[in-house]
Amino acid sequence: MEYRDHTLHCEDVPLADIARREGTPCYVYSSAGILEKFRAYDEAFGDAPHQVCYAVKANSNLAILKLLADAGAGFDIVSGGELFRVLKAGANPGNVIFSGVGKTEQELNYALEHKIKSFNCESEPELALIDSLAARRGLQARVAIRVNPDVDASTHPYISTGLREHKFGIDIAHAEAAYERAKSFQNIALEGVSCHIGSQILDIQPMQQVFEKMLALAKRLRARGLPILTLDLGGGLGVPYKPGDTAPGIREYIGTMCQSVSGHGLEILIEPGRSIVAEAGVLLTRVLYRKSNGAKQFVIVDAGMNDLIRPALYQSHHQIIPLRESTTGTMVADVVGPVCETGDFLARNREIAQALPGDYLAVCTAGAYGFVASSNYNARPRPPEILVEGGRYRVIRERETYDDLIRGETI
Ligand SMILES: *Cc1c(COP(=O)(O)O)cnc(C)c1O
Repeated sequence: MEYRDHTLHCEDVPLADIARREGTPCYVYSSAGILEKFRAYDEAFGDAPHQVCYAVKANSNLAILKLLADAGAGFDIVSGGELFRVLKAGANPGNVIFSGVGKTEQELNYALEHKIKSFNCESEPELALIDSLAARRGLQARVAIRVNPDVDASTHPYISTGLREHKFGIDIAHAEAAYERAKSFQNIALEGVSCHIGSQILDIQPMQQVFEKMLALAKRLRARGLPILTLDLGGGLGVPYKPGDTAPGIREYIGTMCQSVSGHGLEILIEPGRSIVAEAGVLLTRVLYRKSNGAKQFVIVDAGMNDLIRPALYQSHHQIIPLRESTTGTMVADVVGPVCETGDFLARNREIAQALPGDYLAVCTAGAYGFVASSNYNARPRPPEILVEGGRYRVIRERETYDDLIRGETI
């Protein structure tokens, strides 16, 4: 996304053209932006055996899954629905790993039926269930136990799933015993160890500690006679949302990872989501009204918290910039949507370019956890998704209609 002749472009397409033709709100993604990040991951591993398994939950549009599958990506799924999407996109289930703390019997069966690459198991009862379901099919299910490396998050507030008190994984202190007990399961091939310690990680330092702890665990398990083949180090690399934010580069991050763990005959798996798609997406919106209440200025736009919930849910920051670069100075305003909730804001007390009714704005860095977390709250049809490829674009998900809103309902 960059300004050319004062007009914001996604690749070679002026975003205002898309806004005018397709209407607002709408999500727009750059295929080149997505592929560039995926390739940065893939290439940074060099000769080290690896697979980049894109975390589908960040953005699960079929066209994006297809784009990544064609580039050689594997996939990390957290539900049966995500497996359905990956299969519909034409991806090879042999490159799919299944994470999540609450997989149902039906979901496990579905994944076994399609012979996915591996299950990241989060509890001993889940191991037992997979074993019995695999036995019924006469299969060996490949499994990694997700361990919780208990890396101190006190100085790193963004690392928020890797501590003992979180619901995820099995405490690393109990991991060896769990693997030892799991040896008795006849229909499970315990071939991996995995972890994922959180999202929007902006500091590599604690990650290095995680890599080293995980490698040490793999070595101890091998010493116990377990044929550990894969080391899954999760997703979580952060992206800059604000102009001042500094996020580690993908190459730097994978370089550190390889230095810590490569050369031990382990296939390294990673599960990045946000860092592949976030920066490649924007949400386009149109200014409906301006008003002031006392000293406060409001810019009321046609995109709301049902379209992009991150500001309301996490107080997260998204840059908001005009599609036509303005020369009329800035204002401080709340940028709010039409939803009947005080929490329905895209920005608060934000210095933005002067914006008048009819102007188009881009909400930046919205490619991850944007559309996937949208809803029909306030009976608002969800926006379309559009994929740009060079000088062309195509609608990869249509705008919902009023009929879509009531699909499946009866009186
Ligand atoms: C959410 C999630 C990811 C992806 O995290 P990002 O921060 O988007 O990279 C990877 N693995 C698991 C198990 C997850 O839950």
